[in-house]
Amino acid sequence: MKIDAISVFPEMFDSLNQSLIGKAIENELIEFQTLNPRQFTSDVHKTVDDSPYGGGAGMVMKPEPLGKALDSLVDSDSVIIFPSPAGKLFDQATAKDLATRQHLVFVCGRYEGIDQRVVEYASTKAETLELSIGDYVINGGEMASVVMIEAISRLIPGVIGNSDSLIEESHEDGLVEYPSYTKPASWNGLDVPEVLLSGNHAEIDKWRKLQQIDRTKKNRPDLI
Ligand code: SAM
Repeated sequence: MKIDAISVFPEMFDSLNQSLIGKAIENELIEFQTLNPRQFTSDVHKTVDDSPYGGGAGMVMKPEPLGKALDSLVDSDSVIIFPSPAGKLFDQATAKDLATRQHLVFVCGRYEGIDQRVVEYASTKAETLELSIGDYVINGGEMASVVMIEAISRLIPGVIGNSDSLIEESHEDGLVEYPSYTKPASWNGLDVPEVLLSGNHAEIDKWRKLQQIDRTKKNRPDLI
């Protein structure tokens, strides 16, 4: 899969070079590149933002540099993603769908966001999504893109060494995952639940399913 990120802070994507996604990039399972829209400006200050029409606080990202950046990257097989707190909620189902695509382009907003005509323009070129990572506001689209890229990339075959670990995860079956434990069996007066030491796999499966239901009811009643 090819992933491009259009951003005025490309260094913020350096964390993708770590761990499993870093290995996938090294092994060419994922081709990842950033593109700074400032390179498509023509003024001496390389301006990418301007004041909002209609007034209001803050600055808005100008359409021309972002439009030119998109022109240089996108073809009709691309999916263009605008991280935005006003977007549709990004979830595991969306991650699964995007993991099957050939080319993703993330367009990172800063300041008060991006001139909405860039989203309209993008949608004339390729499938375009506005996606939110949650009901809160962060300063820019870079970290939101990193979150989505990590969630998507780990679903690409070969990225996670043991693909079984993707099967029993939170949000795979509409519930959150059961709690996990490792050695030692007793720590600081706290014991691992006995059933997990029993070797009885039918009982362990039953216990884990009940834990999933209890944990989902407690932490995410909206999923029940
Ligand atoms: N004024 C915008 C609003 O209220 O909807 C928020 C702009 S925010 C300060 C700047 C950029 O951060 C956005 O354009 C977007 O790229 C990114 N961003 C902030 N919160 C986000 C979220 N929850 N999900 C995805 N992207 C987010």
